[in-house]
Amino acid sequence: MTNIILFGPPGAGKGTQANFLKEKYNLVHISTGDVFRYNIKNETELGDLAKSFMSKGKLVPDEITIDMLSNEVDKNCGSNGFIFDGFPRTEAQADALGHLMDDKDSQINAMVALEVDDEVLVQRLLERGKTSGRADDADESIIRNRIKVYYNETAILKDYYDKRGMYYGVNGEGSIEEITERLSKVIDTL
Ligand code: AMP
Repeated sequence: MTNIILFGPPGAGKGTQANFLKEKYNLVHISTGDVFRYNIKNETELGDLAKSFMSKGKLVPDEITIDMLSNEVDKNCGSNGFIFDGFPRTEAQADALGHLMDDKDSQINAMVALEVDDEVLVQRLLERGKTSGRADDADESIIRNRIKVYYNETAILKDYYDKRGMYYGVNGEGSIEEITERLSKVIDTL
């Protein structure tokens, strides 16, 4: 199995790139944000739990998120591997993901990070907010809060994977094709 964490702040282009990479490498794409949004739309219990955190741009608590991720992985057992998009976002989530992979006799191969300037992120998210229908993309203060949460709670995972020799940073600015090319170069070496 090839298991990749696609990493980066909100608006870095993880979802867009995951859509290309999943086809190219025959991987299952799990976006925790998409799963939460699906559950909110369908008014499930999980959606209800996640909603109040997401609307403020805060992280959904680890226990809820880890349980959900574990279910998503189980639904796709037998696949060629995964692209994790938006997960892990905390050290507890990274530890849990490691254990989950161990249980499947597998491992995370790499964290590949899209590096993008903050002001570019804000502009991209405001632009996306015009068509995405996402309330958390429509309001600049919520966008800035999500970026702040990323630096305060999530960015430490760069060190976490770097220490294990698994971190690969990629320039996330440029055309979609150029960025896919840069990501592919890393993935092809794994
Ligand atoms: P995203 O689609 O990745 O931008 O995520 C949108 C929102 O979903 C985030 O702002 C969080 O509220 C929530 N979320 C997604 N993934 C996670 C995660 N791994 N841990 C906690 N909250 C998450």
